[in-house]
Amino acid sequence: MKIAFVDGTIITGDRKVIEHGTVIVEGNRITKVGENGSMIPSDARMIPLEGRTLLPGFIDCHVHLCTDGSPDPLRVMLSEPQTITALKAANFAKQTLMGGITTVRDLGGKDGIDLGIKQAIQSGLIQGPRMLVSAQMICMTGGHGWQFGREANGPDEVRKAAREQIKKGADIVKFMATGGVLTPSVEPGSEQLTEEELRAGIEEAHKAGKKTATHAMGTKGILNALRAGIDSIEHGVYLNEEAAAMMAERHIPFIPTLSALFNIEIKGIESGIPPFAVEKTIKVKPHHLQSIRIAKEKGVIIAMGTDAGTPFNLHGENLGELKLLVGQGFTPLEAIESGTRIAAGVLGLDHELGTIEEGKLADLIVVEGNPLEDIGVLLDKKAITLIMQDGKLVKGA
Ligand SMILES: [Zn+2]
Repeated sequence: MKIAFVDGTIITGDRKVIEHGTVIVEGNRITKVGENGSMIPSDARMIPLEGRTLLPGFIDCHVHLCTDGSPDPLRVMLSEPQTITALKAANFAKQTLMGGITTVRDLGGKDGIDLGIKQAIQSGLIQGPRMLVSAQMICMTGGHGWQFGREANGPDEVRKAAREQIKKGADIVKFMATGGVLTPSVEPGSEQLTEEELRAGIEEAHKAGKKTATHAMGTKGILNALRAGIDSIEHGVYLNEEAAAMMAERHIPFIPTLSALFNIEIKGIESGIPPFAVEKTIKVKPHHLQSIRIAKEKGVIIAMGTDAGTPFNLHGENLGELKLLVGQGFTPLEAIESGTRIAAGVLGLDHELGTIEEGKLADLIVVEGNPLEDIGVLLDKKAITLIMQDGKLVKGA
């Protein structure tokens, strides 16, 4: 089947904008991108865009489909039967897709649910974004996320823990280099897995051809992970100039997940979020915003990730992150690029996804109006009138 998207604003994902553009999809690939009137096959189904905007399907580099975005999502997840977690995760997958996110990286699952949801989507059993999954995240005993992470101590055990996740089918291996906000009695700034432990785990992942990511808030933990060879820094709350310079030089991306901290701060203790999480968030947030400034100045690659599933950070509202990035000085075009071309690179999928380009997979969304004038339109699900994933219309058929 051939589809021609005709006469719309095309935001290609690599900072190019084509006015009155045409995009042809054949099967699951984009086969032509150009100005209007450029060879539309006679047998193509025409979809007139009429002033609307066509963008690449968005990619969220950091979600947790096993947590539900309730005020205390860890408590909920740890107290409910795993069947409930799985059924909710299936719903969240669909909501994510309907929010214009056609690909996600899940960075911390429970009981293999992330692996199962990925398979269910691949086999067509349920609808959801294309997924890369980490299975269990790897932390030190009592470290951030220990309640559902794989606790491991010493380089050999971290190596074994990484092998276990790869054996289960993980696409990426996630480590916890520092404390965090949502685990009681751990400090965001403190180091957790050591450089030696991280190095062993990262080496193991790389041997298997897998990328690695780390939760890293404090400066020392960020530097440990960078020296150990990590492939992305998540959160990066206390990113300093030294770390940013290393990241820029080695092209290591920064995924700030602004949505996580903003939602906790805005809703506050009265919403039911555990007080310790709110207090830690308020303490670290100014540093976090400074980290983004430093990273931008140094030329660090910044990709969109939300940490969706954390308090009030709801699955399906992922594109709120773009608005927050614009609030931190990104142009709308830069913010969109961070959630398309750059995010595809973080996932190692930039040869297939992330831009509207001939030969790439047809993951596309159509939105009313122009997000370059108002990035907020991407947050309005009614404004996203069409979603195509892998050449199939999943909304707006
Ligand atoms: Zn996370």
